[in-house]
Amino acid sequence: MGVKYSNKINKIRTFALVLIFAGIVIMYLGLFFQTSPIAMTLFMLLGFLAIIASTVIYFWIGMLSSKTVQVQCPECGKYTKMLGRVDACMYCNEPLTLDKSLEGKEFDEKYNRKKGKGD
Ligand SMILES: [Zn+2]
Repeated sequence: MGVKYSNKINKIRTFALVLIFAGIVIMYLGLFFQTSPIAMTLFMLLGFLAIIASTVIYFWIGMLSSKTVQVQCPECGKYTKMLGRVDACMYCNEPLTLDKSLEGKEFDEKYNRKKGKGD
């Protein structure tokens, strides 16, 4: 209950986008440290690294996308990309599975195992 499933590719994409903005913000913050060249260089470098990292992630998504399966979501009728055997719809977050015999149960188990590290 209360657990929200979301599409894996969407999640990674959101993370990459956040990383780009974080990089820009970090670089911008560096401008406030113009009196200290070391701090400024550090901020610029960190921001640059964040942007590089997100570029790498975007590249990785591109490679992952070639492995995904396109399915029509039974809930909203749109075509969504699935990563792995179980994933959620990109548009309505409806849990989906490629294996009809595993419907429902398998999805929960995998997500719980990945998310609930404390248990
Ligand atoms: Zn959907």
